Parts: sequence; C-alpha cells; structure tokens
Amino acid sequence: MKAVRLIEPQRPLQMQEIPVPEIGVNDVLVRVQAAGICHSDAHYRAGTSRVEPLPMTLGHEVAGVIETAGDGVTHLKPDDRVCLHYMITCGHCVYCNAGQEQFCTGGAMIGKHRDGGYAEYIAVPARSVFNLPAGISFDAGAVMMCSSATAFHALRKARLAAGDTVAVFGVGGLGMSAVQLAFALGAACVYAVDINPARLALAQKYGAQPIDATFEDAAIQVRRRTWGRGVDVAVELIGLPQTMRQAVQSLAIQGRAALAGITQKSFDVRPYDELINREAEIIGVSDHLAQELPMLLELAKLGRLDLSQVVTRSIPLAADAINAALDNLDQFGEGVRVVIHP
Ligand SMILES: [Zn+2]
Ligand SMILES: [Zn+2]
Repeated sequence: MKAVRLIEPQRPLQMQEIPVPEIGVNDVLVRVQAAGICHSDAHYRAGTSRVEPLPMTLGHEVAGVIETAGDGVTHLKPDDRVCLHYMITCGHCVYCNAGQEQFCTGGAMIGKHRDGGYAEYIAVPARSVFNLPAGISFDAGAVMMCSSATAFHALRKARLAAGDTVAVFGVGGLGMSAVQLAFALGAACVYAVDINPARLALAQKYGAQPIDATFEDAAIQVRRRTWGRGVDVAVELIGLPQTMRQAVQSLAIQGRAALAGITQKSFDVRPYDELINREAEIIGVSDHLAQELPMLLELAKLGRLDLSQVVTRSIPLAADAINAALDNLDQFGEGVRVVIHP
C-alpha cells in the first residue's frame, strides 16, 4: 500500500510502498478515508518534536471504514464508519485504571510512535475505534479526534459550568471548536481573542464576542467587557507566554485558566493579586480521554459542533501535496485546514 512517511527529520516526507499491516485478534484494519494534517505533524517533520522509530507514517487524525476485524472484535464489522482515538493505551497500568490514560506508561500515539493515517490502511486495537455517525463527514470525524477533542478536554479540565463566562485565546482550529463546545456545555458568554479578522468573524458567527488583540491588551479588553469582573474560564490555545499571562489576568474570582497551547518558555504571574487573592487556578491540559470522544461525537451529530468551516481543503495521498501543506503550516499559514483523501 502507499504510505507517506517521515524518513528523517528536517527532510521532506516520502511516499513508500509498504505491506498492508497485519492485525491481531483484537485489532481492526481501517481503510483511511480522511487524515487531517496537523500543526504537530509540521513539528515532527522539523524535528522539534521527536518521532521514533523511523521511518514512520505520520497522521494522527484519522477517519475511515473497517476493512477487516480480528476474531476477538465483536463491536465492529467491515464497512462500519469509524474514527480513531490517537492514543493507543495498555488499559491496565495505574494511569489507565485511574482514567488518566494520556499518561499510560506503555502508551503510543499513532503517527508518532506507531504508523499513522497518511496511508491507505492503518491497523489499531479495536478499543481505540469509535463509530462515526452517518451525519458526520469523514473530514470532520478525522479533525475532531485531535483539535476538537483537545478543546473539549481543556473546557472540562477548567470545570466549565452552566452560566459561566469564557474567554478563548486563539480561535484557529482548536479555538473554533472551543467556542462551540463552550456553548454546548452551557457557557453564558464566550469571548474569542485573536488578531486575525477572518477568524474573529467566524468565531462571531458561532456566537462568540470577538476581541481583537492587535492594538490593545486582550486581558484589559476582557475586563472592560465584563464590567471589571473577568471570566470564569480562560482557555489558552496558542502557546505564547504573552497570551498565557493574559489568560490568567482575565480571570474572575475563582476563575480557571486552562493552558493547552504548547511552549517551553516561562511567563510571569503575580501570585498575590492574580491567584491567591482571587482563588484563581492555572490548569495544564494534556491531550484528551477516550471517554470524551462519544460525547464529542454526540455533540457533532446534534449539530452543536460544526466543522464544515474549519476543514477547507482536501489533497490526495501524495508526498508533494502533503509537504506543501506542512510548509504552509510552518509559515503560520493556518486558517486553511487540509485533509488527505487517500
Ligand atoms: Zn493533531
Ligand atoms: Zn496504561
């Protein structure tokens, strides 16, 4: 079968002809219908985030149909529409048992630690496979498994409750899901912070109050719009020290800032004014949980989560086209979400 693979970091991905993967008794073979190209994939190709072993088929946002199922699989059959949880976990370590399987000691991510979806087929344990309802496109199903799932987990980590006010910092792929999911979880008001007018306009279509951070500090604007109170929940999805700081500074009394954007840089916090005296919290967000995916799929089925405006382009399973899409992400040409159709 055809697979587009990372052979070595800092080199373009290459098309290779490799055998269709074998499946075990509890595995399924999925014929890929859509594989999302994610910003993480650009980091893997650049070598800023390590992939091993190499060569590796990238692609962790995958939807498709069951080709074959192992003898031990009872809940899936050929031709079922499915999407894949990208963490393959052991199911029995202390973290898996505690419902914290992102930290599974034997965990492996598809498209990073084992072959992913930039291919015609992918083999995964049946446990990692979820039925994709008929009303949800393969494109949406693929992209939901990463950006929407992480946005959802961030809001749940922040303990978003009905009637809360929310500020979403960064309304790209994750943020556009975060806005819609915040409303689905009962947010009274959602502020969308960005510097890109097109993104702000789209967030507004989904019901958010746009805050353009181009010329004025976003935290100051959030405070002004909330009569000085601040928001109950701030979600940072960009990964910049400046926006993390603004997320904390936007918090109301007992507000929660969930940080999901990735950076190794530090940011300043004034503990007394910004945390202690407000009983405010800063919460880290890592990936998401398998148990959250059925809820997410249900919300998409009900039309509470619409990704039709997020996935904007599809390309064939070809190394040149995929490398060009990754180049575009490297140059911060986001806004265009590309999905591979093998
Ligand atoms: Zn992703
Ligand atoms: Zn485990």
